[in-house]
Amino acid sequence: MSQQGISSGPEAVLVRYGELALKGDNRGEFEQALVRNIRAALEGVVAARVERAHGRIFVFPEGRVEAAARRLQRVFGIASVSPAWGAPSTPEAIERAARPVLEEAFAELPVGRKVPVRIETNRVDKKFPLPSNALDRRVAMHILRDDDPIVVELNHPELVLGIEVRAERTWLFAQRYPGPGGLPVGTLGRVVCLISGGIDSPVAAWMAMKRGCEVLYVTFHSHPYIGDNAKKKVIDLVRVLAPWQRASRLYVVPFAQAQLAIKAIGQDEYRTVLYRRMMQRIASRVAAREHAKALVTGECVGQVASQTLENLACIGAAASLPVLRPLVSFDKHETIARAIALGTYALSAVQEPDCCTLFMPRRPVIRGKLEVCETLEARLDVPALVEDALARAEILDLTPSGW
Ligand code: ATP
Ligand code: MG
Repeated sequence: MSQQGISSGPEAVLVRYGELALKGDNRGEFEQALVRNIRAALEGVVAARVERAHGRIFVFPEGRVEAAARRLQRVFGIASVSPAWGAPSTPEAIERAARPVLEEAFAELPVGRKVPVRIETNRVDKKFPLPSNALDRRVAMHILRDDDPIVVELNHPELVLGIEVRAERTWLFAQRYPGPGGLPVGTLGRVVCLISGGIDSPVAAWMAMKRGCEVLYVTFHSHPYIGDNAKKKVIDLVRVLAPWQRASRLYVVPFAQAQLAIKAIGQDEYRTVLYRRMMQRIASRVAAREHAKALVTGECVGQVASQTLENLACIGAAASLPVLRPLVSFDKHETIARAIALGTYALSAVQEPDCCTLFMPRRPVIRGKLEVCETLEARLDVPALVEDALARAEILDLTPSGW
């Protein structure tokens, strides 16, 4: 902080949240969850104080305001963030503080032309002596200079200088970084995501987190028929997803025994659907153990032969919890675009045999029938297969990569 309490650089991150405001009675709980998640996200990045103040959250990092703001772009529930400069809440201090904020924002724009700027005051403290538009004008008069690249322009500004007047301090900012939106992770409870090394399921997991679900992962691995690379690939994917929530637990479930038993039934065309039904059962058991309320898969309607409505019905019927399919209406290219943005695509795109490619039937059933699934499964000791797989599951608690 420099003279008379006007900051000489960004001093806080102002955090805006959107949808939370719609949650009525739950609002307090959602705000607390968001504060908790913000604290957790900044752990190990920068030491910071986090405070709630009337519809905003303020983060005061010890230095490194920019790094903190960037990190918060990955916290669900946040609509946008701004590195903010502070000043005492008097018209004189505010007008003096304004210029350096704009100058820093200018540094990122091409030089040699006029930049249209709008000033936008939000008076949270209604006792402040000037109305908002009077403060806008006063600040504009103060910052304008003859030889200046700044022109004040209300309709099509390229920069907006925000001024948020609060009783204790006023905040000024010209940068707004978008947040991911959604709801704070954990506020809707836990889900179990069935994650393969493919492109779809990591995106589905991210979308469940976006809607406030804490995600726990289950992957099925057919050791020794499938090499350890398939498992490593899933671990790497979970690590890429980990910064979006606090802890990421992955169950690696051995699946070869179940697959061998299903293969032994002999009805080739039902094999894939029966594998999937077994996955749903085991994942449901993991969910019960971990107090999760739903399963999540990367399934989509009509994308591959196994994803007809009939087959999805057969598969879903084996789950004892609701199955969420966030990608249900996505075209493949939409999922790919998300995976690229998320940073999972490059990992997923590496072709690696996985349990689904093991003992693949030549002609998988397109319109499976539940009665047929059940008749075939009557030849198996399903509970024993489920118990055995669960008993041998490996549980990994994974930390984020790249932070
Ligand atoms: P993905 O890209 O996620 O693999 P996909 O389009 O290839 O999906 P399928 O291979 O039919 O579709 O798998 C459908 C869903 O079943 C996956 O999105 C995932 O949720 C689950 N799944 C498939 N294989 C596994 C596995 N080995 N472990 C855990 N879940 C799996
Ligand atoms: Mg797949």
